[in-house]
Amino acid sequence: MALSGLQIQKLLPKTNCKECGSNTCLAFAMKLAAKKAELSACPYASDEAKKVLGAAGEPPVKCIELGPDKKLRVGAETVLYRHEKTFVNQTALAVNINDTDKPEAVEKTLGSIRDYVLERVGEKLRIDLVAVTDKSGDPAKFANLCARAFEVTRRPIVIRSSSLQSLTAAAKAVKGSNSVIASANPKTADELVKVAQENGHALTVTAPNLDEISALTSKIKEAGFNNLILNFETFSLSEQFQVNSIARRAALKDSFKPLGYPTLKFIDGGEMFDIAADVINEITKYGGICVLPYFDPAMLVSLMTLRLNIYTDPQKPIQVEPKVYPVGEPDRNSPVFITTNFSLTYFIVSGEIENSGTNAWLVVPECEGMSVLTAWAAGKFSGASIAKFIKSVGLEEQVATRQIIIPGYVAQISGELEESLPGWKAVVGPQEAADIESFVKARIK
Ligand code: SF4
Repeated sequence: MALSGLQIQKLLPKTNCKECGSNTCLAFAMKLAAKKAELSACPYASDEAKKVLGAAGEPPVKCIELGPDKKLRVGAETVLYRHEKTFVNQTALAVNINDTDKPEAVEKTLGSIRDYVLERVGEKLRIDLVAVTDKSGDPAKFANLCARAFEVTRRPIVIRSSSLQSLTAAAKAVKGSNSVIASANPKTADELVKVAQENGHALTVTAPNLDEISALTSKIKEAGFNNLILNFETFSLSEQFQVNSIARRAALKDSFKPLGYPTLKFIDGGEMFDIAADVINEITKYGGICVLPYFDPAMLVSLMTLRLNIYTDPQKPIQVEPKVYPVGEPDRNSPVFITTNFSLTYFIVSGEIENSGTNAWLVVPECEGMSVLTAWAAGKFSGASIAKFIKSVGLEEQVATRQIIIPGYVAQISGELEESLPGWKAVVGPQEAADIESFVKARIK
């Protein structure tokens, strides 16, 4: 549970020595409460303060780091609804292969998983993990396929088997990949914790109901292992929705640590729309890792786009790099447009210029990812700031034209822009990007 500044101050030495950079212990406590400072900045913090504040600073849903570089993170969530603050780590998507699949089919799927990339508003979206399911019952065959899947994709593996022997063999075969062993139940937990510890993997735990799964995570944590993921045994979409919601609510609202872990859900088959509904449930309702039964690029386009929308931080707009972008194959005499570096605005404007069939330069100054009117209102898209950017990127040497087409919504900056850029004429373009094509036909072509 988050502590207030006054609660934190009671744990500090209260000497106001200023060594932390704040004038008083209270001021430092306020910064800690707002997560704008680290306790380590106070050299005199007691062990008790470190313990209490360390526990209070942990997210209610534990962060699990996966992959050889530990860059894939699941969990670490702090809110039930995105509008409260933001979601932190998006639902990781895995694609399943079975160790009884034909070798050619396996190689093809692994290559597809490795190479799949979907570009949306400048973001490159990829498949996060490979799940390998033991259907052969042959530990060596299963372990070899896990190793091959990691070798080809360099993604962490969801190692799935009901056999302790197969899980152990595969966990060793992909040691160093920081993968996921699935799953430990009350009977196999002790052995599998050892296997996970020795090989550096996370462990999913499963049990028939929430009480039993809570008892199992508590027992494992008490034994000193906490790299856990919850795998609920559910038999319908509504049941999965319910347990995901109960677990997240218990972790966040009641600080119930035994359910404070990310989840993993296997989707084992069914009609395409049923599979999509299951994955959508995971993406929108708290899923940590979701395993798709097969590689389907058409389904992935929709799911990844949905995931991007849900997990985009509303406080940090997606931005493109501030620079001068060519649209088509512009030359020195091509027209020059300008817009802001909010990704959505950039992609819409550049798309409409492209649709108009003209080759052009699109100037995109730094506007902190704001849309045109917001950036103008915040003073980030003024005549003076645009002129400064144009000079800094050397546009005057790059093009022969001395006309710049500004968005119609900010017609009022034209005078200031012409004053700040002597020799240039600011041409007021359309207000809506959709009207760029008719503007180009009427004024440029
Ligand atoms: Fe207080 Fe510690 Fe900061 Fe000194 S360094 S003012 S004791 S919080």
